Amino acid sequence: MKILSVNAGSSSLKFQLYEMPEEKVLISGLMERIGIGDSFYTIKINGQKIKKTQELNNHEEAFEALVKELEGNHVVDSLDEIKGIGHRVVQGGDYFNKTEVVTDDVLSKIEELSSLAPLHNPAAVTGIKAAKEVFPNALQTVVFDTAFHQTMPKENYLYALPYSWYTDYKIRRYGAHGTSHKYVAQRANEILGRTDTKLITCHIGNGASISAIVNGKCVNTSMGLTPNAGLIMGTRCGDIDASIIPYIMEKTNMSPKEVDNVINKQSGLLAISKKSSDSRDIEDGIANGDENCILAQKMYVRRITDYIAKYYVEMKGCDAIIFTAGVGENSVDTRRDIINELSVLGVELDSDANNVRGKERLITTPSSSIKCYIIPTDEELMIAKDTYELAK
Ligand code: AMP
Repeated sequence: MKILSVNAGSSSLKFQLYEMPEEKVLISGLMERIGIGDSFYTIKINGQKIKKTQELNNHEEAFEALVKELEGNHVVDSLDEIKGIGHRVVQGGDYFNKTEVVTDDVLSKIEELSSLAPLHNPAAVTGIKAAKEVFPNALQTVVFDTAFHQTMPKENYLYALPYSWYTDYKIRRYGAHGTSHKYVAQRANEILGRTDTKLITCHIGNGASISAIVNGKCVNTSMGLTPNAGLIMGTRCGDIDASIIPYIMEKTNMSPKEVDNVINKQSGLLAISKKSSDSRDIEDGIANGDENCILAQKMYVRRITDYIAKYYVEMKGCDAIIFTAGVGENSVDTRRDIINELSVLGVELDSDANNVRGKERLITTPSSSIKCYIIPTDEELMIAKDTYELAK
């Protein structure tokens, strides 16, 4: 059965077509600059990468271009072969704790939640509506980044703020990257050969979050109401003293929008290193003795180990720590720095095993108190798996 996994941004469309349940990728690609001029797209098929320039005025035209590629490359003989289309949705609020089939009610709830994810939810709705037009016979599903975190107990998702802010304005911790945390946790349980596990999953990429997972269920996560909580990220500050915001607004006359822009786009590694948001550049800076990069890396690692320690105590132990996403999968030095900081807990790095990028691997010694693994994430596959289960 052919299943399409879709991630629609406001001006982009990422897709991957699978043959399920074999999990074979038939074609994948990314369409960019949709509706803003100079559109282009890249597709990967049979190990080849092809770039094409074509004006795409909206997401419907993007899906039509995708159909042309599917037919032109003989990936499908008829569009009806595609039985399911799974859409990534960033914010599902507390309405959704699992993947759902798209209905009018589901769509209006996703639209209603746009105020919590103004950049992402409207784009997803546009993508779903366009896909329904172009693939009228396929089952459409929505896979929420927040759904996996819905199992958190109230003491972990509530903020110590007036309770009416929660009931009236839905202010609470929702988490992010749930599809990724779920995928690597399931894979970790497969590797460990059991499901009664305590896991700490570190999704560290440009955006970053850490989750505590007991017996396959999320009990805590570092992201909050929005994807700017918890860890220090490429350009996001993560946890800060909330009173900094009114203080700096009074001092500088910045508007809420301007402050929001600074804490989301001009903070994190970029602000401290004064150089880059990319951990590769930070590593180069450290190699050249750049003091700002050394400080940025120290702060970045400290915040991660703070969360690991917190979740270790909360879960009363930990069987495995998982590293995933851009930095987690590829930064040998960041994994080394984190694991070395955990030596007080008896965690012991295997330096040779750690010297790898983007491969699933155990990177601690046999005597380490906690096993640490690299597990490359695959959110698109997770979306396809959930959609396949519903389409079946
Ligand atoms: P993501 O958001 O998961 O795609 O992660 C992107 C980030 O991963 C980049 O901004 C880099 O900081 C980091 N990254 C990617 N490749 C490497 C690498 N080879 N070494 C260190 N960091 C990397």
